[in-house]
Amino acid sequence: MIVGVTGGIASGKSTVARAFAALGVPWVDADDVAREVVEPGEPALREIAERYGERVLQADGRLNRRALREIVFADERERRWLESVTHPRIRQRIIGQLERMQAEGAPYVLLVSPLLFESRQSELADRCLVIDVPESLQIARTAARDDVDEAQARAIVAAQMPRSERLARADDVIDNAGSEDELAVQVAELDRRYREMRIP
Ligand code: ADP
Repeated sequence: MIVGVTGGIASGKSTVARAFAALGVPWVDADDVAREVVEPGEPALREIAERYGERVLQADGRLNRRALREIVFADERERRWLESVTHPRIRQRIIGQLERMQAEGAPYVLLVSPLLFESRQSELADRCLVIDVPESLQIARTAARDDVDEAQARAIVAAQMPRSERLARADDVIDNAGSEDELAVQVAELDRRYREMRIP
């Protein structure tokens, strides 16, 4: 069984993944995979460099993310092209990693992705687990963790999928407005349920 885990910025996705890992459940982080497919030597990076030239590469040959972001931010068509180059490769690599973990005997596996629904990675999952916190707490935790102020954190939250829409798509929900101990209790309870579930 594959459980997709998602939530807005600073909702607690990484914290939840670590709590499941402590119970012996491995995870794939879709953000990590998205970075891997554009590392030097990867075909996606070659295609990107062929289309946009040197300006999207750093001196050491790595992707200049800021330059690429500016290009696709300004042009919807380019964004779609970039997604057509990266998304299938991200998906293939995620599937490969999930299969490997399952073959190694994991009780079930997690696909942790901030864009689980938006990128339709939820199609890879048998169930979707949403980490839910009030937006005020998301903003406070983002500002405390990242180098952004509250206004910037608020703008990031506002640009993401609305909380209500995410919740409407959830099979399971973790309420992460409480302490990390309270979070661990919810993770342990879900782990018990997931271990008993069998996908038909
Ligand atoms: P995400 O991966 O969704 O961006 P994180 O797991 O990194 O979120 O959590 C965001 C921040 O909030 C981190 O600094 C984390 O330590 C903190 N955090 C997460 N859950 C809790 C909690 N229950 N109580 C207090 N702080 C928390």
